[in-house]
Amino acid sequence: MHKLANRLDHFSDSVIRRMTRIANQYQAINLSQGFPDFDPPKPLIDALKQAADYGPHQYEITWGSAEFRRLLAKKQQKLMQIDINPDENVLVTCGSTEAMMCAVMTVCNPKDKVIIFSPFYENYGADAILSDATPIYVPLIPPTFEFDKQQLREAFEQGAKALILCNPSNPCGKVFTKSELEYISQLAIEFDAYIITDEVYEHMVYAPHQHLYLASFANMRERTICCSSLSKTYSITGWRLGYIIADKRIIDGCKMIHDFLTVGAAAPLQKAACAGLALGDDYYQQLTETYTAKRRLFLKGLDDLGLTYYEPQGAYYVLVDISTLNPFKTDFEFCEWLIKEVGVAAVPGSAFFKHPEYRYIRFHFAKQEPTLIAALERLSKLKEKLSCLKN
Ligand code: GLN
Repeated sequence: MHKLANRLDHFSDSVIRRMTRIANQYQAINLSQGFPDFDPPKPLIDALKQAADYGPHQYEITWGSAEFRRLLAKKQQKLMQIDINPDENVLVTCGSTEAMMCAVMTVCNPKDKVIIFSPFYENYGADAILSDATPIYVPLIPPTFEFDKQQLREAFEQGAKALILCNPSNPCGKVFTKSELEYISQLAIEFDAYIITDEVYEHMVYAPHQHLYLASFANMRERTICCSSLSKTYSITGWRLGYIIADKRIIDGCKMIHDFLTVGAAAPLQKAACAGLALGDDYYQQLTETYTAKRRLFLKGLDDLGLTYYEPQGAYYVLVDISTLNPFKTDFEFCEWLIKEVGVAAVPGSAFFKHPEYRYIRFHFAKQEPTLIAALERLSKLKEKLSCLKN
């Protein structure tokens, strides 16, 4: 029989999501794939019940319900400090996963080059491959995860059509500074490139760090494609609601791709999510405070266990350095052992790095405090169990 498409040879299944399946198999506490173990805010659940009773149950307008786009534009306009016309600048997608894929497919022709900072959220590599674009990886250099300016310039000099910017960054938790973003903007303008942002952790930024939207930087509006989602902000990762905000010219292109990729995001869920988009500023303040407390608890726990990590400035992940602990050949084997023997699931760091790096594992802390405490309790046996293994 004919071989299936060659594109299948260039990537594997998602390691993040694979770790969840293994965690479930062994009933481990799942700190691998980033999603909460608590419910969305009550207004969303109530609105979902209403949607079950009163609809809508049929297709929404392809690019998203008018009410959703209006509320989203209002919320994001204030945060991003740019004008957002709900009819011209907004596209509702099936999660930011579709938003990112749609953005890359809208911008890139086959063989176009796309700059991706490494470590990176693993979908970006697949987004580029599925769009037949060629990734150019630029390292964020551990342990501080800064980039080398000259190296980035050289990547643009290779003729990159776009750069993917995850800010706050998954997996390392870096929040790009104003001067870094200014430098990226200057290069994008000089080399006439697009910037595709993934800003799903925009509300999870820890003081004194601050999230700045690249689209609001001088002359960046016309070349920035802001992708984000409601998943993390309202704890509804399973609802698969994301969006793109960009200039009309770009959104018109994205609408065409989206129309044929998915037709549209789930209508009753868009309706119910409007209850989230209508929440006031205090909700987002509270959200940031909640995650600040989870981060404090989890990092203190890691400190108490004598584990080394990069302190996240944003998002809800932490890369723990296992270079002095790992008796196995790879970080994947380490994570499998951790699930089976310690009962906690993490993602092997190599899933995020271009050049295999077996130095890190990634935990997330988007869990209720008792879950985090239970995970830390299990991790307190880690070193002892490792030493038994070595002997
Ligand atoms: N963003 C989450 C993570 O990095 C997972 C998202 C997903 O699996 N779609 O773990």
